Amino acid sequence: MKEENAYDVIVVGAGPAGMTAGIFGARSGLETLVIEKGICGGLSNEATVVDNFPGFNRIGGMELVEKMKEQTAQYAEIKELEEVKTIESRGNEEKLLLATDKASYRTNAVILCTGTEKRKLGVKGESEFLGRGVSYCVTCDGFFFKNKSVLVVGGGDSAVRGALYLKNLGCEVTLIHRRDKLRAERYLQKSLEKSGVPVLWNSVVREIKGDDVVRRVVRYDTVRDTEDELAVDGVFIYIGEEPATALATPLGVKLDKNGYIITDKSQRTNIARVYAAGDITGGVKQIVVACAEGAIAATSAYEDVTR
Ligand code: NAP
Repeated sequence: MKEENAYDVIVVGAGPAGMTAGIFGARSGLETLVIEKGICGGLSNEATVVDNFPGFNRIGGMELVEKMKEQTAQYAEIKELEEVKTIESRGNEEKLLLATDKASYRTNAVILCTGTEKRKLGVKGESEFLGRGVSYCVTCDGFFFKNKSVLVVGGGDSAVRGALYLKNLGCEVTLIHRRDKLRAERYLQKSLEKSGVPVLWNSVVREIKGDDVVRRVVRYDTVRDTEDELAVDGVFIYIGEEPATALATPLGVKLDKNGYIITDKSQRTNIARVYAAGDITGGVKQIVVACAEGAIAATSAYEDVTR
């Protein structure tokens, strides 16, 4: 009989990596639980369009997540809105112990798929105006800025995709980037050029100002060494991500110089029976890569648990 709250493998985080790990773990015959502190999908829920995941020419992030969740739930148990607080490994003991805000679990293996968190600008006004003009998600908040003036901060794929999404909604969009070259995929850069969205090059946001809501942004031009104020209604911040390693660090999992989890090719970390997959391992942050790593991690867990 199955011991209560005991699993062969527990996957922490239900983005594309975690859901795929769930499918592969359960299908190999392991008692598999996927725990997610929010809802399934992670940052993929916010992807306006996914057009590089094989099999789907163009699909909304949320729609893809829904399909993945449906498939995962056919095989593995999923618990949403439950946050893992601690993971303990007691040396040579077989089981790892997980404590969440709702229960305690014992497991033979843990796959960390905790992804990343949005990087903050760290300027005055950013946290004060959160939800009152400052946002990190165009699909969540863009609609409120239809026909209004918005600034998108950043030069990567997310910022460019965000700017295009807002432009398409009917916002008056400007992109602001700290360098004179975008980091985004060439294909996205071309779409941005075509869209006519102006770019403020070599410019950084120094402060976000307003009253009840955002009204202005203080822009510093790093080449001219000048400062001015831009009138805006919204500021969408897309300046990258930080790895979410709060559970990994106390376990003694080794991180690289950028704070991402180091794994070998089989997604094993330096801690026995602890694996990592998806954005938390750094590298190419794409849904297809996260899924592949999730599959590999679950396969390695199967090999170790059934040895
Ligand atoms: P990213 O690629 O790391 O780009 C972050 C951008 O923000 C960079 O242009 C960076 O400037 C800028 N930046 C960083 N810190 C800043 C600061 N303190 N102040 C001002 N600007 C700052 O992040 P991302 O766009 O969120 O993408 C994350 C990962 O997901 C990437 O691997 C990306 O390829 C992937 N992704 C892919 C898609 C897709 O459609 N395929 C969509 C979204 C994300 P510098 O360029 O000067 O460093």
